[in-house]
Amino acid sequence: MKQLSNCKIVSFFFGGVSSASFIALIAAIVIGFGFGAITFFKIERIRKMIYALLFMMLVVIASFTIAVKETGILIKTLLVFCVSYFLVAYFILKYAEHIIETITNNQKLKQEATKDYLTGINNVREFDRNLNSITQMTIRKEEELSLLFVDIDFFKKVNDTYGHNAGDRVLKSLAQILLETCRVYDIVSRNGGEEFSIILLDCSAGKAAQIAERVRKKVENYRFELSDRSKIRITVSVGISSYPENTKQINDLPENADKALYQAKRTGRNKVILYDENK
Ligand code: GH3
Ligand code: MG
Ligand code: MG
Repeated sequence: MKQLSNCKIVSFFFGGVSSASFIALIAAIVIGFGFGAITFFKIERIRKMIYALLFMMLVVIASFTIAVKETGILIKTLLVFCVSYFLVAYFILKYAEHIIETITNNQKLKQEATKDYLTGINNVREFDRNLNSITQMTIRKEEELSLLFVDIDFFKKVNDTYGHNAGDRVLKSLAQILLETCRVYDIVSRNGGEEFSIILLDCSAGKAAQIAERVRKKVENYRFELSDRSKIRITVSVGISSYPENTKQINDLPENADKALYQAKRTGRNKVILYDENK
């Protein structure tokens, strides 16, 4: 009785391993490595899938050819395999195409919902969303927060003199200047028309004034190139509000930056004004 059960155990471990299962194991390993290598190819996702499916088919055909000795059975097996494989592969590829298209469309929609179509920086909706979450974080961490509103001076004149396309070029270049001039973690947005904003995280009024002045000077000295290669100059006015130094209620930051910008416009333009609640 005991001898019988020992035999069963031995056959369980060794009886199951045939040359076919060994070939299947090698094929699985080769497919695994092949798929791994294909993921490193710098090609479209759908092409990767096609290569992977073709590679798997070749490995399986090779395995069948080695494992099945009888030519008649081999031909029948390969025929059934290839037909069913092509059908399944076709549906997998179609489904993958559909998924990839859906993901791409979603990414595009998300991009359009958050980015300004002309300059590529955040749009006003994203500005609102960012300011909302950053004000909450600022209160929680007991940090400072400053806001700059930047508006091009006499921009209408640029459009009237050089055309709307020239105006668009200026807006795009200005967006780049703003991105380059502030710190990497500050948030630059186009709030509409020729009005931009910069949210300066954990930034005091003094530091915000320095950054704003840097922006103003850089724009003043920059020569904006138009499509006919001619160059023009523009200036900007900047309004600053800063929490908690000059704006006690954090939600008043946009309104106060706007008031400071208005004052900069009223008192001559091409200048930086820091809003002060106490004045
Ligand atoms: P101020 O110094 O008082 O700010 O004067 P301004 O001329 O800059 O301001 P105003 O509000 O009178 O004119 C803004 C102009 O910005 C008018 C509008 O044609 C132009 N503008 C708004 N959006 C765009 C845009 O996307 N492209 C171009 N080229 N111009 C735009
Ligand atoms: Mg303007
Ligand atoms: Mg304006």
